[in-house]
Amino acid sequence: MIVGAGVAGPAAAIALARGGWQVEIAEVGPPEAPSGWGLCLTGPSLRALDKLGLSEACLAEGYGMSTVTHVDVNGEPAGEARLPRLIGARRPAMAGIARPVLHRVLYAEAERCGVTVRHGVTVAAVDQEEELIRVRLSDGTDRSVALLVGADGIRSSVRGLLGIETSLDFHGQMVWRALVPRPPWATGIHQFAGKADTAGLVPLSDGQAYVFLTENGVERSIVPDAELAPRLRKLLETFPGRGEEIRSLVAESESVVRRPVLTALVEGPWNRGNGVVIGDAAHAPAPQMASGTALALEDGLVLAQELGRHESVEAGLQAFAGRRGRRCRRLVETSVAIAALEQAQRHHEAYALVDSCHRFMAEPV
Ligand SMILES: Cc1cc2nc3c(=O)[nH]c(=O)nc-3n(C[C@H](O)[C@H](O)[C@H](O)COP(=O)(O)OP(=O)(O)OC[C@H]3O[C@@H](n4cnc5c(N)ncnc54)[C@H](O)[C@@H]3O)c2cc1C
Repeated sequence: MIVGAGVAGPAAAIALARGGWQVEIAEVGPPEAPSGWGLCLTGPSLRALDKLGLSEACLAEGYGMSTVTHVDVNGEPAGEARLPRLIGARRPAMAGIARPVLHRVLYAEAERCGVTVRHGVTVAAVDQEEELIRVRLSDGTDRSVALLVGADGIRSSVRGLLGIETSLDFHGQMVWRALVPRPPWATGIHQFAGKADTAGLVPLSDGQAYVFLTENGVERSIVPDAELAPRLRKLLETFPGRGEEIRSLVAESESVVRRPVLTALVEGPWNRGNGVVIGDAAHAPAPQMASGTALALEDGLVLAQELGRHESVEAGLQAFAGRRGRRCRRLVETSVAIAALEQAQRHHEAYALVDSCHRFMAEPV
């Protein structure tokens, strides 16, 4: 039983089903894929999708790219980073993709592997028995399962039901995303350093891109939907050059979202008996490294590998967390350090840290 059909849940479901497990996913949300914003799939995400046999589908529907262009506060080019191509020298280093498209690709493959996905249900109670976990779902039905995977995101309920504690840390930043038409010059990621904030553009397909903006030194707050686009345009006023162009694109956006930058990292074991948390439920980085999806996908693959290698589920779960801990901690901690450098306007140090962390993430999983 997997709880959560975001990224880690379907990835784990596919890998486990291929390893012979009978898998059911309980997802609290509706069957329609989540809308909102796009994602940047960095090299490690593409590598994990490649292992799942899904990189081509994502590249076909997303937008493959290999460079990050940095633009300084005056709107002048400030260098270009070429990211490692982890799925082959002739294939792109990364891809932008709309979230609903990634979900569609993952769900289709999960279904093809025989995974059952139940929408509109969650886990109400969990009771650890000897080798099994009794799970009560919110629809009143019970299951006795050999493995319970909490892939239910940063605010994971399964984490609490298993008695695993972690804090959610807010870093004084709110991030904005807006879906916009892709301007022809945006064939890679563009990142603009601002006087107070940072902004940029990520292509998602031939026709679509998303604008991102990180608002520094702010309290957590909610902006009414009707005010989102005008507020984002106002924040983009301080960005010259192409920043002005992306501001005009926001006027055409049908979707603007604003989220707090939150991180979480489970300090102790990720499992209790045969129950485990994966993805953001175990380790949620700030979005600056655009790598939370990579960790979530990798978790699914490594979980199935380690369970396949060990006699008991509990031993497999411990080996899984042992293999993942250092990598996930490094990403969460680096993303927090980048957030702090951005707040201090130390953009060049932030870029250097991003580069070194991308090199670390390129190492084998
Ligand atoms: C603004 C923003 C931008 C980001 N941009 C990027 C990016 O460009 N690239 C990147 O790699 N990462 C990015 N990330 C991080 C990335 O989104 C996450 O790391 C990734 O989605 C984690 O996957 P997950 O499956 O663990 O969790 P999620 O994707 O959050 O999925 C959790 C799922 O569980 C479901 N759920 C929640 N509670 C329950 C419950 N009680 N019962 C049943 N189901 C439940 C949810 O509905 C959801 O479907 C970004 C994050 C944010 C906030």
